[in-house]
This record gives sequence, C-alpha cells and structure tokens, in this order.
Amino acid sequence: MLDPSNERTAWDRDYFFHPSTHMGMHARGETPTRVMAGGEGVYITDVTGRKSLDAFAGLYCVNVGYGRQKIADAIAAQAKDLAYYHAYVGHGTDASITLSKMIIDRAPAGMSKVYFGLSGSDANETNIKLIWYYNNVLGRPEKKKIISRWRGYHGSGVMTGSLTGLHLFHNAFDLPRAPILHTEAPYYFRREDRSMSEEQFSQHCADKLEEMILAEGPDTIAAFIGEPILGTGGIVPPPAGYWEKIQAVLKKYDVLLVADEVVTGFGRLGTMFGSDHYGIKPDLITIAKGLTSAYAPLSGVIVSDKVWQVLVKGSDELGAIGHGWTYAAHPLCSAAGIANLELIDELGLVENAGSTGAYFREQLTQAVGGHANVGDVRGDGMLAAVEFVDDKDDRTFFDPARKIGPQVAAALLERGVIGRAMPQGDILGFAPPLCLTREEADIVVGATEDAIRSVFA
Ligand code: PMP
Repeated sequence: MLDPSNERTAWDRDYFFHPSTHMGMHARGETPTRVMAGGEGVYITDVTGRKSLDAFAGLYCVNVGYGRQKIADAIAAQAKDLAYYHAYVGHGTDASITLSKMIIDRAPAGMSKVYFGLSGSDANETNIKLIWYYNNVLGRPEKKKIISRWRGYHGSGVMTGSLTGLHLFHNAFDLPRAPILHTEAPYYFRREDRSMSEEQFSQHCADKLEEMILAEGPDTIAAFIGEPILGTGGIVPPPAGYWEKIQAVLKKYDVLLVADEVVTGFGRLGTMFGSDHYGIKPDLITIAKGLTSAYAPLSGVIVSDKVWQVLVKGSDELGAIGHGWTYAAHPLCSAAGIANLELIDELGLVENAGSTGAYFREQLTQAVGGHANVGDVRGDGMLAAVEFVDDKDDRTFFDPARKIGPQVAAALLERGVIGRAMPQGDILGFAPPLCLTREEADIVVGATEDAIRSVFA
C-alpha cells in the first residue's frame, strides 16, 4: 500500500474519482490506495515493491499475463508508423483490417463482420442499436424489448447498466430503463426448490423465459442477452441443458441471441469462444477484454451473416449507418490485438486454460470444499469461485453487512494473492491469466485455504 505520508496518496484522495469505489471512505482515507507499477507473468508489483500473484488477471482481462514485450513492441511500432486514423466511410489501417480477419477466423460458425469499439459497455450499446435497427428494417417496429438475466453483467452505461442485473449497478441511477427486462438467473446453487435436478432447473429457467415472452407478447421481444457463464454475477456455470432449452424458446419466438463473451472470448473456457464450449449459436457476440489482454482498450460486436444481410438491406434503403465512435478500430489497439491473438496461439493458452484451469479447480475443491462455511466450489476453464454459507446443510447465507467475501479477499491479499470479492453474495472469484502454471495454481490454492481458515477461526 502507498505510504499515507506520500504526496501521491493525498493527490489520489483529492483528485482521482475512482470507478466502483466507496467514494466517502476513499476520500477520507479509510480504504487503502494501491498504486501499481509493474508486472511480469501472473505477478503484479506496486510502487512499494510489494508483489502479488494476480489470480483475477486485472478484471479478468490480462489473459496473456503482464509484461509481454511482443505486444508492447507492436503498439510502439504502430505508434511510430501511424498512431491514429479513423474508420469512418470505409477508412482503416492494415492493423484494423488484419485483426478483423483474425477475429472472424477464430469466431464460431456463421459469423461475418466485426464492429469495433473500446469497451464491453459500448459494444453492448452497439448491440442494442443494431437489434433495434434490424427490427425496423424488417418492418417490426414493436419488436424492441431485450431480455437479460438477473445477475448478468453487460456494462455500466445507461442501457447496458440496465441490461446488467445487479442491484449495485442500478441503485440511485434510475435503472433499469425500458425496454429492458430481466429473467431468472441460471444459478443452480441458489435455486429455491432444492429438490430440482440441474436439468429440471434449466427447464424451469426456460419456462420462466417463455412465460415472460408470452406475457409481454412475442411480437415485442427482440433479443435475449447472456454471458455463456455468469461472470460478475458470481462465476456461475450454466446448469446442464440450460443453453439448449433457452435457445429452443428463442427460436420459437424469433428472438435474437446475443452471447456476451467479454470474459469468455479468446480462450478463458479452454475453447476460443464460450459459445463453442456450451453449444450456443449466437446472432451477435460481444468481445473485449481478452481481445487485447487489456494492453490497449478494444472491444467489438461480431455480427452473424443472418443479421448482416438485414443491416445491408437497411443501408441500401436508409443510407450509411449513423453509428460510430472516433476511436473505433484504433490502430494502436488493433496492433495490440494482433500481437495478443498471435501470442495466445504461440503459447497454447487456450489449451492451458482448459487443462490448468481444471487442475486449479480440482485442487481448490479438495482444499476448501469440505470447509463448514464453503457451500459451493465451481467454475469452468480458467474461472473459479468459492461461495460462503453460514450453514451448509440449510444453505443459509451470511448477512451482507458482515462482508465475509471481502474479508476473505483481504486475507488472501495479505497472503500475496489477488482474488475478487464478487459484488453480490459472499463469493470469492478467480480468473487468473491463461498462462497460469500448476505451481502457481498451487500457490493460489494454498493461500486461499489459509485465508479461509483465518477468517472463520
Ligand atoms: N460484459 C461482460 C460480460 C463483462 O464482464 C464486462 C466487464 N466486466 C462488460 C460487459 C463491460 O465491459 P467494460 O467494463 O469494458 O465496459
């Protein structure tokens, strides 16, 4: 942590409005300031020289790990050649064109084009606009509502914050806004009827979705958006049969499917895309984070051929699409993306996410699964979570005011490992860089076991 007497600490309190931070506590100096300075592999170091194993890869984004020279060199070379030109009215750079091709080469079947942005939030904003445009072109102006899930995370904007199904992101912001609706989260561990099997619970979720579509009127429902595996909502893998049953309902009522792959895109589940992993056939895919491993901000919407054909018809009738960002397909970010995707292939990181991820979860389950206050250890690929319960047999949860999740995350940090206390529920999340080794996984597991023991002692 930064020495409280350091002038940077004062500047930080006085001038820096941090995102997702308790404003009063931070400004009053009641929460620590940690100033990061360097990183190598899975380790990050702060200005005091304190090193931590980052088992959350920043915000599940530094997939190739820190300090990759190849990406730094690619950004520098592009900056020297041409730091910026826009992508409007058919312009581009070699980097943005090459990256588009690399993304489509890796995307699930049926994908056609990439629309670039800078953040996962703006990419989902693009999704919403493309969905509305699509239905207007098809002469269905009433078909505009978008169904998301409780506990889904899709961004922090006005519309994307509405898609997000977490109360923290709605509170006092007058969200969610119409025409966004939320349906049941596929959260098997927290199911109300504990007698249900996974398949039965998946059917229950699909039935709830269908009920909502029928109650609202199928002619008003445009799209459904979901992360292949719930991320910020608690790192919750879909129960058996979930995506198959959900897709059957969507197909029945001609509802588009958006797979938000901001976390899962480019390898995190041990496949290039989470859609491939769970048998999802999306019409639109959101990408960000792992596209550049966060070495530069870049996001995108991958548009299927089915949607693209309608969009083209639209511009033939209406003219150029009135939607664009100044920094779309930014050359520096595109150069970072190319080097990053090459590195993922060269280092075999997709395969490692599957194999080392499985090893990590097995070890974690063995080490902490039997603890009296651990209700669930779950995950998939290089994603894992430990959910804490007050009583294991009754599956009762702690009062959120006790901040059990944050306490465990703090104890873990004291032991040199960064995990994340997920925002809703007492859940410790892990999303390490995809280059994690078995030895590093063992360090994370050992520290977690010790941290849990200390908090519940
Ligand atoms: N979608 C998902 C699934 C995410 O996890 C996130 C960010 N955690 C976003 C969208 C929003 O991305 P950003 O923070 O880059 O706007």
